[in-house]
Amino acid sequence: HRINIAIDGPAGAGKSTVARMVAKALQYIYVDTGAMYRAVTLKALESGLPIEDNDRVGRLANELDIVLLPGVDSQRVLVNGEDVSLRLRSLEINRSVSYVARLETVRARMADLQRRMALEKGVVMDGRDIGTHVLPNAELKVFLTASPRERASRRFRELGPEAGITLGQLEKEISERDRLDQEREIAPLLQASDARLIDSTGRTVDEVVEEIVQWGLAAART
Ligand code: C5P
Repeated sequence: HRINIAIDGPAGAGKSTVARMVAKALQYIYVDTGAMYRAVTLKALESGLPIEDNDRVGRLANELDIVLLPGVDSQRVLVNGEDVSLRLRSLEINRSVSYVARLETVRARMADLQRRMALEKGVVMDGRDIGTHVLPNAELKVFLTASPRERASRRFRELGPEAGITLGQLEKEISERDRLDQEREIAPLLQASDARLIDSTGRTVDEVVEEIVQWGLAAART
């Protein structure tokens, strides 16, 4: 039978790459919850809202129509019908998203949308609070991490030198985002007590994907 798989972990641990490949292998749907927080952040910045204002950003989040479309290589994100996928990875959004993600109203709305996407099972959802909060009954939970230096190097390679940020700066920004995500009051970044830990430092993507797929197949048989 079909199950739900939650993959949580800190920034740059490779969650989205791994989750997408696991979903493909199992013919499940991949849901990138970070992209949803990024989409709200994009719209809040565009509207000039103070990003720490729960009422105003919360109202915006409640009004936005956010749709995730599974794509071949990556998922597309539509906000009120507009494809914003290519605008979600900027340094500006990286720096603001964890403030938006601390807001109670925003989190309640995102969790509600995410739970609805998982109702029919067969979902691989990646984020920070999926195993602990959004899908506490997910049949398989994975907490995926890697050393801070390795996570920064991966992001550095993704961004490329044109981004105008050094590896050291990137490592600092990633740690700062993790700190904000771990220290927030509502649904902080945390390994669920029943999640399996994978440290991907020095391991290939294929190895990690294969391990999760095997766990998923085993969980789907029980
Ligand atoms: O996964 P990604 O790096 O795109 O997530 C961006 C930010 O969105 C995280 O740093 C975190 O602040 C927030 N987030 C969250 N809960 C999730 C997914 C992402 O708070 N489930």
